[in-house]
Amino acid sequence: MTLTLPSFAKINWTLEILGKRADGYHELRTLLQTISLADELIFTPTEKKIEIICEHPGVPCDKTNLSYRATKLLSDFTGVEHGVRITIKKRIPVAAGLGGGSSNAAATLIALQKLWGLELAPRDMFTLGSKIGADVPFFFIGGTALGIGRGDEVYPLDDCSAEFLLLVNAGIPVATREVYANLPPELTNPVATAKMPLSLETAYANSAVRRGRPESIWTRLHNDLEIPVLAHHPLLVEIKQRLTKIGARGVLMSGSGSTIFAIFDSEEARSGALSDLSGAGWWCAPARTLSRKRYRQALSTSSA
Ligand code: ATP
Repeated sequence: MTLTLPSFAKINWTLEILGKRADGYHELRTLLQTISLADELIFTPTEKKIEIICEHPGVPCDKTNLSYRATKLLSDFTGVEHGVRITIKKRIPVAAGLGGGSSNAAATLIALQKLWGLELAPRDMFTLGSKIGADVPFFFIGGTALGIGRGDEVYPLDDCSAEFLLLVNAGIPVATREVYANLPPELTNPVATAKMPLSLETAYANSAVRRGRPESIWTRLHNDLEIPVLAHHPLLVEIKQRLTKIGARGVLMSGSGSTIFAIFDSEEARSGALSDLSGAGWWCAPARTLSRKRYRQALSTSSA
């Protein structure tokens, strides 16, 4: 049996760095959102070997591939030693703040359970996922979600929606690790404040999302990583300015960059921006938000 699964991208509506923790990680608060842009993953059973096929030059096909790591972790955890070939058709830009690798890892854990007839407890899935990367647990939930801790403690929120998104990537790869290693000092103070109780934290985030929704989120876009990343890449400032000038309601860098997303009011406004920016030679893709329900449906109705 061969399984084909979409592996969706994410954007961050907000990303705040609360400070540096004693264990060296940064304490985050982020509002995450799944969007319609997706890779395609094809899983084919093989004889006792993990094989990754991907034509994208930025994606390793060895043991460092995040789908490979997910397969190995699942295999070690369950003792199941079946082989699998995973073909990754990359459509999500790589090292671009859209969580493509993390999404591939989550989709792999979901697909292999089906392929190998396993049913892991959600707790075990989340533990395996966060070993691979901080964004992986979010891709088990999808829709709009609050991420705290390293971003890997994820809580579902009411879905936000934006129909006319435009993603722009000028081909500047940004390594997440380097961005965090070079943060300005004001973002790396020790986390001094006691954590807000989770019930309050989610209630706060939910009310921020809900107020006047869906537009409410458009006025709250914020990413603490923007200033340090844009300072190194003036081209990103130009892209943001161009999108604003052409009528975007909101414009923000996603995650650690360098993809910029813009929210438009209508298909006409977005297609005007699409032709303007793609004319400049940048990768541009229209997208829309993907609600939790539609996200889960898409992952559960994988084709065999
Ligand atoms: P994040 O914000 O989650 O750190 P990102 O969206 O900025 O990640 P990814 O596209 O996930 O970036 O890629 C991060 C790195 O992971 C790249 O350097 C890439 O070579 C490597 N990588 C390993 N496996 C994959 C995969 N399956 N898909 C994409 N990148 C992968």
